[in-house]
Formats: sequence, C-alpha cells, structure tokens
Amino acid sequence: MSTPRVVITGAAGFIGSHLAETLLDRGYAVVGIDNLLTGDLANIAHLTGRDFVFIKHDVTNYINVEGPVDFVLHWASPASPIDYLELPIQTLKVGALGTHKALGLAKAKGARFVLASTSEVYGDPLEHPQRETYWGNVNPVGPRGVYDEAKRFAEAMTVAYHRYHGVDAKIVRIFNTYGPRMRVRDGRAVPNFIGQALTGEDVTVYGDGSQTRSLCYVSDLVDGVIRLMLSNANDPINIGNPQELTIEQIARTILRLTGSSSRIVHRDLPVDDPKVRKPDITRAMTILEWGPKVSLEDGLGKTIEYFRTKLAAR
Ligand code: UDP
Repeated sequence: MSTPRVVITGAAGFIGSHLAETLLDRGYAVVGIDNLLTGDLANIAHLTGRDFVFIKHDVTNYINVEGPVDFVLHWASPASPIDYLELPIQTLKVGALGTHKALGLAKAKGARFVLASTSEVYGDPLEHPQRETYWGNVNPVGPRGVYDEAKRFAEAMTVAYHRYHGVDAKIVRIFNTYGPRMRVRDGRAVPNFIGQALTGEDVTVYGDGSQTRSLCYVSDLVDGVIRLMLSNANDPINIGNPQELTIEQIARTILRLTGSSSRIVHRDLPVDDPKVRKPDITRAMTILEWGPKVSLEDGLGKTIEYFRTKLAAR
C-alpha cells in the first residue's frame, strides 16, 4: 500500500504543526498549507527533509493539491480571543469560505475530512460540563461572535458535505489546549501567564479569576484527533482534559512552577468571557478509547521550558 497522504490547513500553527510532526512520525506523508497570518514557519522548519511539503496559501481561495489525498485536516484559523478582535473578517472567512474550500478538496479527492471545531460553539454555556448534544449559548454580535459563529457555520457545512455529498467528515470540538509553539504574545491565558512569570511582569488575571477552564496538553489532543481521523465516527466529539481549574489556580500554578516572584494583578473581564468550561469526554472515551494522559504539572513544565528558550533567543 502506498503511504497515506494528509493535507493539513493551518500546518504552521500551534496545533497544526504538532499534528504534522506526529503524523510524519507515524508514517504518513504530509502536505501543510498555511498563509502565515498567525502561523510561523519556525514551527515547521524542523520538518524539512521529511515526507513533508509546505504550500503557502490562503485557504479561503481554491485549494490546489496535486496527486492523491487520503485525509484533509482543516485547522486553519486565528484561535486566540485577541486575534478575533484584530482579525475579525479573516476569522469569519477562514471558518466559512476556508471550510468550504477544504471540504471541496476532500470531496474531489475522496478523502476523509476532520474539522477543527471548538468548545466556543457552546458559548457561555448554560449546561455544565458540556456534552456534544448541547446547542450552546452564543452571542452572534459580541466580539467573540466572529469565531464562534464561523465555527458553528463550519460545523453545519461539514455535516452538509457528509449528508449530501457523502464525504466521510468528522468534527472535533477542541477545548483549551496548551503546549510548546504557542506564541509568546498569543494573548491566551497560559502563554500570557508563563511569559509574564518568566519576565517578572505582573500576571494579568481577568475578572476575579473565578472563571474556569480545563487545560489539555497538546500531545493528548493530537492523539485524540488521530484516533478520530481513523474512526468511523461522524458526530462531533469533544477532545479536552476534564480537570477543571479556576483561572486564578492556573496563574498560581504557573507562578509556582516557574519560581517567579511576579505579582497577580486583576484586569477587566473581556466581553462574553465564558464563566465555566469543562468537556464531558464520555464519547471520546467510549468511541475513540481516548483519555488525556499528561498531567498539568508535566505539560506546564514542558511549555515553560519552551518559553524559556524562546524568550532567551529574543
Ligand atoms: N485570561 C486571563 N488573563 C490573561 C489571558 C486570559 O485571566 O492574560 C482569562 C480569560 O479572560 C479567560 C481565561 O483566562 O477567562 C481563558 O482565556 P483564553 O484567552 O486562554 O481562552 P478562552 O478559553 O477564553 O478562549
């Protein structure tokens, strides 16, 4: 059998680059596509010389890939709340037009498709923890609406291609994920706190810090995605770590692990900031036989090391 070939949109991004690397390690050929809007070639430079091809392209336009394709993983999108504020139209376009083009590629090639969706489809959830059957509580005209609604549209488009064109399409709802290759100025809680702790700046906790998130280490997430890609599932599946923590607890843990003497300061809570978030992972556990393995301390330890090296090189 010939080497299975995977197209990853957003391959130069945080999760996209880890997906590319792990799939290469597992014997796949990878075609990575990225317009480098929020991605970085430094994330994939080490893949040169392997069975990896990079195409610089904006996937809101027609995607042309020569040769056979077995899987299309659609990961391209800004993914940090500060990016949605700076890149609202691009966020909407890649979720809508980009998903359409990526699905078109999968259909033309007879490839399986996986959409990177998000826990943001649940909005500021009124059901806790969030099961895949929950329809969500999203403000379409708030600042996060550009991301939430783009991903909700992307899910609808993915399901339509499955139902009406018979594309073997899957949807993963990704909960907060962290690890090496997040940008130092990414704006999300984990990279902000680590960057601030390592440089002695104040650690900025938004609101009173009682809002919760559940943090999944990137290698666990990637393992879940690959299991989904190889499964027969077509319904959405949550992948995330169900260990729920307050943002204040996350900030204190990072201060302890970095040995930092930074102070915690409080800033205004962003508009529509979800108050709680925790995945129900029953589906992933039963259908994919998946569960997170990396502890928070180990995952944060690896992420802190990465940030130390990055900051030292600046
Ligand atoms: N947050 C914070 N300080 C920061 C960045 C984020 O307190 O410097 C909070 C943010 O308001 C939210 C939580 O941390 O309640 C997680 O935010 P993040 O941007 O990581 O992602 P979200 O889960 O909101 O998409």
